[in-house]
Amino acid sequence: MASPAPLPPAEADPGARLVLAEHLLACESAVACARAVVEWLARRHGAPAACLGPGDGAAASVCLASEGLTVAQQASLTRAWDAPGSPLAAFRTRPGARGLAADALEGAVMPGGFFAVPLGRSGAPAAALLVVGLPGPTVPEDVAWVASSAGPLLARQLASDARGPRRPEPDRLLRRVINAVSDPVLLTDTEGTLLFANGRAEGLLVAGPDASPGRMRAVELNQRLFRETLAQGGTAVHRREVPLVDPLEGMDLLFELVTTPVLAPDGPSVVVSVLRNLTDLGRATQALGESYRQLRATEREARSERHRLDRVLDSVADPIILTDPAGGMVMMNDPAERLFALPREEGPSGEAHLRRVRANDALFASFLANLLGPVNAGVSRWKSQLTLDDPSTGAPVPMEAMANKVLGDGGELTGIVTVFHDRTEVLERARLLERVKEVSSELEARVQSATAELAEQNELLRRQAIQLEQASAAKSQFLANMSHEFRTPLNAILGYTNMLLQGVSGEMTPPQRRNLTRIDSNGRHLLEVINEILDITRIEAGRMPLHLSDFGIPELLQEVMAEMDPIIARSKLTVETQLDEGLPGVWSDRQKVKQIVLNLLSNALKFTHEGGVHVAVEYQNATGTVAISVKDTGIGIDVSNQEKIFEDFQQVDSSPTRAYGGTGLGLSICRRLAAMLGGRVSLLSAPGQGSTFTLHFPRRARRT
Ligand code: ADP
Repeated sequence: MASPAPLPPAEADPGARLVLAEHLLACESAVACARAVVEWLARRHGAPAACLGPGDGAAASVCLASEGLTVAQQASLTRAWDAPGSPLAAFRTRPGARGLAADALEGAVMPGGFFAVPLGRSGAPAAALLVVGLPGPTVPEDVAWVASSAGPLLARQLASDARGPRRPEPDRLLRRVINAVSDPVLLTDTEGTLLFANGRAEGLLVAGPDASPGRMRAVELNQRLFRETLAQGGTAVHRREVPLVDPLEGMDLLFELVTTPVLAPDGPSVVVSVLRNLTDLGRATQALGESYRQLRATEREARSERHRLDRVLDSVADPIILTDPAGGMVMMNDPAERLFALPREEGPSGEAHLRRVRANDALFASFLANLLGPVNAGVSRWKSQLTLDDPSTGAPVPMEAMANKVLGDGGELTGIVTVFHDRTEVLERARLLERVKEVSSELEARVQSATAELAEQNELLRRQAIQLEQASAAKSQFLANMSHEFRTPLNAILGYTNMLLQGVSGEMTPPQRRNLTRIDSNGRHLLEVINEILDITRIEAGRMPLHLSDFGIPELLQEVMAEMDPIIARSKLTVETQLDEGLPGVWSDRQKVKQIVLNLLSNALKFTHEGGVHVAVEYQNATGTVAISVKDTGIGIDVSNQEKIFEDFQQVDSSPTRAYGGTGLGLSICRRLAAMLGGRVSLLSAPGQGSTFTLHFPRRARRT
């Protein structure tokens, strides 16, 4: 179907009428003619217009073309044109254009009044009626011109249409088709002036006078953006993106603009633009990109997780193997590789190595078969002991294998993790423990026999001790008896010797006197020894009882000094005493205290050649102890002898040629007596620097 050339703009007067006339001549149907006329007038005068004509066959009149009128208004017009006696029906037979008031028609179809112009051949009834919404009273020139020029043409077309079937008016059809397109479609001139827009495009780029300011602004912005984008295109088909705004919701939209210039040989060039909404596509692309990024991140994470898992597995000293549900090895750590993986390099021992690895693999497979078998379908872990071979050395490696099923979210088997634990150490420890038990039971037997032996020895010793005790008692008894037996005749000897020396039996010669003096001195020494032995035996036999009484130390010391006075006088030593102020009275055995002090003082005088002897008494309140010390400036005693001299018959110099007399029993008696008092004798001494012997005893003795 040939299309008429596009209509020129209404301002293109005076050629406009010529163009319309050419256009009308090119029209192939009455509808096309009517449309050309209506559009031309409507555009030229900005007024609504319609062209009414006969319907198909016996049908009532139809609106062949209209501009600026609703379907209802068109229907009102056709009804009025068909209704006999109506103001419009009169025009069927009456030539000439005429203005009518708005209320001439029912429903005020043309609110400002209108002109009705009958169209047809002169002298014949009107074939069609042209209605133009312009106020009267003078018929506009264009309307009159159209009626005279287009009327006959239209009548001819109507007559020819009546002969053949009326085809739809192509322009209208095209408009309907374009309007039905869901993408915005526009027809513009090359400058971007809008010639036609379908509904979608109007929504974006057209705003009526009653549109809201917001919509106005959005439409203006869209028009500007559209024109700018359009200006970038050339004469060829062009695609680019154009960002627009949704005038209703204010949302950003993204369109792809495809422009196709249409170069008409007989008219001005126009541009067909089709906009494709990419907003959703953009969003989808963005979402896809985001998903892809997330996928990559997850993949990276999974890779690093796997890496970390590898590192963790490798850091475990025990071999670990991950197998798939069929038992195929998926992953293993280094210790497992050493046992189950084939060697990377072939060595001289490659053959044996290979054989051992295969044997290990076979053992592992049969171990897993237990867990994977139908018998153990409900079992999640399996433990067993295997003896593998060390592939490098061939040494047996006792292992405990523990396999765990790994289940997926749906409870399906996804893999099996098997951890091996080397039992060599455990077995070695068990062996050692067994050995320790053996040794300890041996030891126990030995201890038992030694204990029995010891008990026997103890019994023996106990009996010997009893025997010794009995022997000691017998000895003490013997010594006590013997001392007594010795002392009686000895005292008689000393008595007679003394009498002889005093001249009872007459005067003696000097040699006789000298010899008698020696008898006297030796006899006295012997008596001293016997007395001391007697003391010791009495103490040991428990026959020296304690006689406790209250006494004062100063008085006791005076007595001692008085008794020692002749010896002190002979010694030419200075002897001093020093007593603490306010010494308390003492409850103890006075005789024994005196005997000890006498002994210490006589030793001090014996072993001191020059200087003096200092006797001091102190009372230590905190301990309730009295300390009587005898300090001399004598020969002193070497540390090595300081213990020994307290034992029976022990002297520093015990040689037959010794310089000092004595029995070696004095200090041992002192020690025993001090113990009886609940005290002790201490010594501080150094050779050549004198000695200090101190008796410590409690102020109040306790009877034992
Ligand atoms: P003795 O009868 O020999 O004096 P003692 O038991 O009293 O027996 O003394 C033992 C020995 O201790 C003495 O032989 C002497 O070697 C030494 N001794 C005792 N007192 C003193 C002292 N004050 N200075 C040096 N040596 C002493």
